Amino acid sequence: MIDYHVHTARCGHADGEMLDYVAQAHKIGLLELGFADHLPLLTQEDPTLTMTLGELSGYVQEVNSLAEDADGIIVKLGIEADYLPGLEGETAALLASCDFDYVIGSIHFIDGWGFDDSRYLEGYAQKDIHTIYEDYFRLVAQAAGSGMFDIIGHLDLVKKYGFRPETDITGLLEDTVAALKEAGVCVEINTAGLRKPVGEVYPSETILALCARAGVPITLGSDAHRPDQVGMDFDHALRLAVVAGYRRLAVFNKRERDYIDIP
Ligand SMILES: [Zn+2]
Ligand SMILES: [Zn+2]
Repeated sequence: MIDYHVHTARCGHADGEMLDYVAQAHKIGLLELGFADHLPLLTQEDPTLTMTLGELSGYVQEVNSLAEDADGIIVKLGIEADYLPGLEGETAALLASCDFDYVIGSIHFIDGWGFDDSRYLEGYAQKDIHTIYEDYFRLVAQAAGSGMFDIIGHLDLVKKYGFRPETDITGLLEDTVAALKEAGVCVEINTAGLRKPVGEVYPSETILALCARAGVPITLGSDAHRPDQVGMDFDHALRLAVVAGYRRLAVFNKRERDYIDIP
């Protein structure tokens, strides 16, 4: 199995040595471990959210040296980059400065509001939940269409704290999945949602079924912020993938996509 979404202490909200993440991956028998720490934000410097620009080359070097030394496991160099509308050129230039195996594109901000940050939950009371979902998924579609990302991260992160619109969002989800298909991007099954108030994987089974029907490929990540979270709840995630109709997972090498079978 593979885990393509693992953080490092550089982001300021994860713990443990990178070697311990690799050791855990080894222990549970993963084929591949992909580090995908948070790319520095181009809008702000917040040491509790991402590494600094100055730390990026050290991150790349450490992943590459772990990859060279790793025995019996393949270590990949990924990154999780925020999609920031209006800063596509700057983001693309920063991404091009490193030789990543893959780039996860994520939305953590709606008009500057960190909606997935427990410090800013009051935002959910200030706007209609349906509007928040519309704004969020519009950004997801834009991120996919930007062509900068190989994988869209935690596709329905907006549900993290359990706020759900009472309205029917089927059309919104179908439009989003159509945009993913059109853009040719992959989505991840991300098990971190099981550890959050919402208590389910990203994306939901409904969205996963839409993705499967549309032929949008999937990959797999734990979004580990601690070594013991590597590969967490993957049995559950793989079961959902198979139920949705998936038989294989996407893997990446220098931004080229390939597939492995789900065992
Ligand atoms: Zn994080
Ligand atoms: Zn994220």
